[in-house]
Amino acid sequence: MRSALPLSARSFNRLLSSAVNVVQAGGGGGSGCSSLLPRRWASSLPQLDSVDRSDEESGGEMIDWDNLGFGLIPTDYMYVMRCSVEDGAFTRGELSRYGNIELSPSSGVLNYGQGLFEGMKAYRRVGRAGYTLFRPEENARRMQHGADRMCMPAPSVDQFVDAVKHTVLANARWVPPQGKGALYIRPLLIGSGPILGLAPAPEYTFLVYAAPVGNYFKEGLAPINLVVEDGVHRAMPGGTGGVKTITNYAPVIKAQMDAKSKGFTDVLYLDAIHKRYLEEVSSCNVFIVKGRVIATPATRGTILPGITRKSIIELATDRGYKVEERPVTVDDLIDADEVFCTGTAVVVAPVATVTVEGQRYSFRTGPDTVSQELYTTLTSIQMGLAEDSKGWTVAVD
Ligand SMILES: *Cc1c(COP(=O)(O)O)cnc(C)c1O
Repeated sequence: MRSALPLSARSFNRLLSSAVNVVQAGGGGGSGCSSLLPRRWASSLPQLDSVDRSDEESGGEMIDWDNLGFGLIPTDYMYVMRCSVEDGAFTRGELSRYGNIELSPSSGVLNYGQGLFEGMKAYRRVGRAGYTLFRPEENARRMQHGADRMCMPAPSVDQFVDAVKHTVLANARWVPPQGKGALYIRPLLIGSGPILGLAPAPEYTFLVYAAPVGNYFKEGLAPINLVVEDGVHRAMPGGTGGVKTITNYAPVIKAQMDAKSKGFTDVLYLDAIHKRYLEEVSSCNVFIVKGRVIATPATRGTILPGITRKSIIELATDRGYKVEERPVTVDDLIDADEVFCTGTAVVVAPVATVTVEGQRYSFRTGPDTVSQELYTTLTSIQMGLAEDSKGWTVAVD
């Protein structure tokens, strides 16, 4: 047992330093409870009270804000909230240092993919302090809907939005300067409890972390090139294509890698039954434009109902376009003037070409396009450059 001494000495030091911190921070209030997390979790997270903050003054300044892509730049804090079957609901979460979490090898998420994610962005406000979120309650509700499909408890809308706000504020120094990008926020809901037989996990973890991002595609804001995939499908009727479960993505990485190796930006998926109707791209929804008419595939369970999609439909309608949510065929696509994609990560991405069965079709891009008009309209609201008459933005101070 040679390791026993150093180990216990280390834990003793940790205990000691956390006790000191509690006394310093709490003024010796005397509750003796330094953590809001249930005891059983306390060891699995990098706790705030034993954090070395000496690195905190550097970091944000070392980022090359002009060349942010969509890579993972780790930030300082994450928000964690747990829920066990005995608890019945999520109670109270808290911020902890961003870092590894401990999971049982038999956790539901690792074995059976019981998990959901969300994606959101916070922007720095123009001309005043604070940050802006875009329709965060929509993400909260989408997570609740997905949790129902995946047999998981979900945080309330207030809990969700509150957790996101805490995460933004705790990582405020990582929010890129105006016009350089956004703080991408990634909420996760996972079955973290151990389970062997196929059943819902006995415990759930809601976690929110964040990373500064710039443009999603390596093309930057330049138009992208898609390829229609007719062999691999991302969703099927009755499946989970309509909810943001983590299990929708790994099965299509292969198609995406193949497409990239051939020089395409991403894949445009078709419906699994007729192989004739457009569904969406790996992580964004698709729209086609013909004259003043804009069409996008209707969401009937196989397409992820994007919040950007929903917002663009509303903004385009306001601007006098006729917007149709309907089945969109490959022939409709080929006949279109413009094609564009929407999503939190990609925003509104113009499509330059789509390749169908080896044939490359080109579409209008650049200034004076519908996609450019809608991009400007949407981002002006999101970044606080235009008046938000719809009440879509939420301030974080
Ligand atoms: C997240 C996502 C979208 C876009 O949804 P937004 O709410 O607009 O970010 C579209 N398709 C898929 C498959 C997605 O995962």
